[in-house]
Amino acid sequence: MTETEWLISQDPGLMLEHHRGEASRPKLRLFAVACCRRIWHLLEDERSRNAIEVVERFADGLCGDDELRSAAEQAGEAAEAAHWENRAGPIQTAAEAAAMASSEVLSSDLTMRLVETVAEAVGDQATDEDWEATWTTPGKTNEERWAAEQAIYKNAEAREKGRQADLLRCIFGNPFRPTTIDPAWLSPTVVALAQTIYDDRDFDRMPELADAPKKAGCHDADILDHCRQSGLHVRGCWVVDLIHRRS
Ligand SMILES: [Zn+2]
Repeated sequence: MTETEWLISQDPGLMLEHHRGEASRPKLRLFAVACCRRIWHLLEDERSRNAIEVVERFADGLCGDDELRSAAEQAGEAAEAAHWENRAGPIQTAAEAAAMASSEVLSSDLTMRLVETVAEAVGDQATDEDWEATWTTPGKTNEERWAAEQAIYKNAEAREKGRQADLLRCIFGNPFRPTTIDPAWLSPTVVALAQTIYDDRDFDRMPELADAPKKAGCHDADILDHCRQSGLHVRGCWVVDLIHRRS
């Protein structure tokens, strides 16, 4: 994968493959959390949701192996229960994703399976939502209905993978051009703002984070441009980490 391909890729699997072995474990955990938070509404079992919250604390060093192991067991039981309760479809698939995210060892391979599983849950949900229109609108053959359902699934899956690729860029930055931060840019205001954004998950304030270092003399285009991108920042965002983990 080239730098240009990384910057525009819509394929999280290829990006993870490129980053294999280089992704820090906490970052990989936070990526898994971010993917699962996108399907929070499908995580109906409290054990699945709890597992994601524990994984996040684990990534931040706020809990240990025992708590993670216990949460993973519970998430596994939740996924199994969804299976035995015959909750086929997005609910079961989402529960499986949460169980993967909380696995004791989150390898690159498992993370690749996780992104596929989350995208599958989103695709399943889209076909469920459109089921009536797809299958009851008169004047269509079964082949046409099946093709329409497949198209709905593929579109939803591809959109989700595109968002996952954005999450990878938010969390890992540009691996072809690692950025360092000049301590002179880290004024108390900048550090406090980064901490607040992280603690409150208030990523709408990211543009403010661009303004503050700029006033302190930062003209690094990668940092400033990333802060100004609206929409998709999450815990693990490389700019926020660069600032508040060095403070
Ligand atoms: Zn970001």
